[in-house]
Amino acid sequence: MAEKRDYYEILGVDRNSSQQELKSAYRKLAVKYHPDKNPDDREAEDKFKEASEAYEVLSDDRKRQIYDQFGHQGLEGNGHSGPSGFDDVFSSFGDIFEEFFGFGSTRDRRGNRVQRGADLRYDMTIEFMEAAFGTEKTVEIPKLDSCSDCGGTGCREGTSPETCGQCHGSGQFVQNQGFFKVKTTCPYCKGKGKSIPNPCRTCRGAGRVEVSRNVQVKIPAGVDTGSKLRLSGEGEASPSETGPAGDLYVMIKVKPHKFFKRENSDVVCAVEVSFVQAALGDEITIATLTDEKTLKIPKGTQYGDTFRFKGEGIASLRSGRRGDQVINVLVKTPTKLSQKQESLLKEFDRLDSNKISNKLKNLFKSI
Ligand SMILES: [Zn+2]
Ligand SMILES: [Zn+2]
Repeated sequence: MAEKRDYYEILGVDRNSSQQELKSAYRKLAVKYHPDKNPDDREAEDKFKEASEAYEVLSDDRKRQIYDQFGHQGLEGNGHSGPSGFDDVFSSFGDIFEEFFGFGSTRDRRGNRVQRGADLRYDMTIEFMEAAFGTEKTVEIPKLDSCSDCGGTGCREGTSPETCGQCHGSGQFVQNQGFFKVKTTCPYCKGKGKSIPNPCRTCRGAGRVEVSRNVQVKIPAGVDTGSKLRLSGEGEASPSETGPAGDLYVMIKVKPHKFFKRENSDVVCAVEVSFVQAALGDEITIATLTDEKTLKIPKGTQYGDTFRFKGEGIASLRSGRRGDQVINVLVKTPTKLSQKQESLLKEFDRLDSNKISNKLKNLFKSI
């Protein structure tokens, strides 16, 4: 067997590339060498398998770590073996292929090639606190759904479809053009292989109708702007009776909060304290996501010093562990002073041996 090529080299990516970069590199190769696009091309087939194997390993953080440390050898006997054939590749990459090829065909339970329903996208804006703690929303989705009067068959009650007389049920015409065989979809039955002599009155034989459906969306704690939730099977119904429905993708946008800002699973906030509080130390009450807490400001706190409330941040989508609340302390300089305050500050200034102006004088002396 030939020496195995480096997985990063196969995908043409850098060793520290992100999952997103890996995915898009793999996507390009998979589309280029996809067997549907390169029928009977051994080289393309090998390239496709090679890229798929590389992606399978590198997209899995655990396997990637092993590979980075020990190379190909590390993965042998580790429950990993390269995909052995196309069906394996397709089953382990089902999700990605659906994503890559969108509305492409798939197979139904009986193994027939059928068209999948279209995926739908819904943009949802939620409040900061809803994102932090999760919520449930009902959304109205207009879509093509299976006709309830005929159950998606497209036939009037008591009638059934007939085999298409034009393509004899295959759904395709095959024409010989020189060396090539060209397959085209049957224009009479649109590839379904069946014709409907008595169409359903509601859907006029289409099997699908335009409806508005309420969909319950569970939003997990920790989502952020850019999070994408997939609701499997909540997209449009398949144009073929036995095909699977598409998926619904809910794209999340989170509204900003007036006090809290988010940094991954930490929440960051800023509090102002007077220079006296900063110098002498104090205890102040600070709002947390759920309640409030006392923060002890130590003597001699500087502008920009940060403090943390452990575990008062936002739950991580992956681990569920909550991040911290980070508090930035901003020291305010007073702008309006009474005469008495001013004279006290001057007195304070006289007593302060570490004055900046003194330091400057000394510095100039030394030059
Ligand atoms: Zn036909
Ligand atoms: Zn119908």
